[in-house]
Amino acid sequence: MEYEAVIGLEVHAQIHTRAKMYCACPVVADTGDVPPNTRVCPVCLALPGTLPVVNRRAVELGMMTGLALGCTINPVNVFARKSYFYPDLPKGYQISQYELPLAVNGALEIETEAGPQRIGITRAHLEEDTAKLYHQDDGSALVDFNRAGVPLLEIVSEPDMRTVEEVQAYATTLREVLIYLGINAGDMEKGEMRFEANVSIRPKGATTLGTRTEIKNLNSFRALAASVAYEIERQKAVLVKGETVIQQTLGWDEVAGNTYLQRSKEYAHDYRYFPEPDIPPLEITPEWIEALRAHVPELPLAKKRRLMAEYGIRPYDAALLVGDPRVADYFEAAAGIARAQGVTGQDVANWVGGELFRILNAAGTPIDACKTTPERLATLIALVQQGTVSVTAAKTALGAMCETGEAPEDVVQRLGLTQISDANALTALIEATLNAHPAQVQQYLAGKTNILGWLVGQVMQASKGKANPQDTRRLLQQALEQRNAGL
Ligand SMILES: [Zn+2]
Repeated sequence: MEYEAVIGLEVHAQIHTRAKMYCACPVVADTGDVPPNTRVCPVCLALPGTLPVVNRRAVELGMMTGLALGCTINPVNVFARKSYFYPDLPKGYQISQYELPLAVNGALEIETEAGPQRIGITRAHLEEDTAKLYHQDDGSALVDFNRAGVPLLEIVSEPDMRTVEEVQAYATTLREVLIYLGINAGDMEKGEMRFEANVSIRPKGATTLGTRTEIKNLNSFRALAASVAYEIERQKAVLVKGETVIQQTLGWDEVAGNTYLQRSKEYAHDYRYFPEPDIPPLEITPEWIEALRAHVPELPLAKKRRLMAEYGIRPYDAALLVGDPRVADYFEAAAGIARAQGVTGQDVANWVGGELFRILNAAGTPIDACKTTPERLATLIALVQQGTVSVTAAKTALGAMCETGEAPEDVVQRLGLTQISDANALTALIEATLNAHPAQVQQYLAGKTNILGWLVGQVMQASKGKANPQDTRRLLQQALEQRNAGL
């Protein structure tokens, strides 16, 4: 029998507001720079007699996410207590949302090999992060309450995914949407986004759902993909043996590469949800919703399609550029200017995704701190196109521009990078190169003509990258033919 997987995802995204969800303590990125337990107050430490106050900005960012995902925003929101005991939860309950969450009934469009697909969004609700536990080698644990009360948005999908590829596309696309909305920076290593996957198996074509398992605490794309793939195969093997899948909560062992039992059946009423008595129902007016809708930016997939249509760039490059909205903005600024100088969008995409990325990555510089403005990159590419500098020389120039912030013309001047297209100068370089490598010349003349490329390389090197490669190749061939005739 053929089986298919049915997969749903729950995504927890930290909302990087200035203050925490229910108190005024600052939200700090989990970089290890801030000393533990220094961004805390009586509210997030759950001291008796304190009262939570809802962070308006967190609500607004949650609403914008809901709107971006095509959800309906509930006009009345109710916060609820989700009770459970754990050392990282000082109140003994989490203030979350249950029956009337912020947003419901949306969808996220994803792209896969099979084409675009819509994955339903069941709900998105607000809650608070827990403190962070640091387990020690001696079996004890330390707790840092800086993270306690950081706003979280939980986004729950419908069980609409069937393959690991769809799960990856969904998680990646959602991450980009959250970055675009300014929810957080999408840094998985800092725990800004965490996943839980619900996986079940059923005979292909069946309409009822099989028994599902839930894989908790997946903190990387790799763990998400590997654990879902593992769980699909494990459940298939169980069914093939004629046994039944048991509803369980599982963990993922990254090192062993398998899921393991955390606890069996878990029902919603275990949490004893009830409305939070310290927070009145939150009323959301249509005017408030519309005001925020106006601030929802163009989303990554729409931007990708627009860049392809407007600048004629390949899907791969468009996907690369929209991964970070700042990169997409940089590209558009450069491509707009370059177009006026006869440079194609694809050329600009090649430079941004190629040499510029390489330089910025090597220096650890984000693109919005890049010293080369989009205008100057466009001018540099135009210089290549006009034949003023070779590609190799332009790469050298770009490196210098990113270091000093100079204009391309100044760098080319200062470093003497102007391309040698002058035939006399080139011929002199070629003659010197041929004289220096008589063995290779003999090989060429004996019919091993593919050595020409190597000889072009030698001339380019001798010119410090300033020779025009096309002219070099042509003149080199001529010079060799002359020697051939002379033999
Ligand atoms: Zn606090």
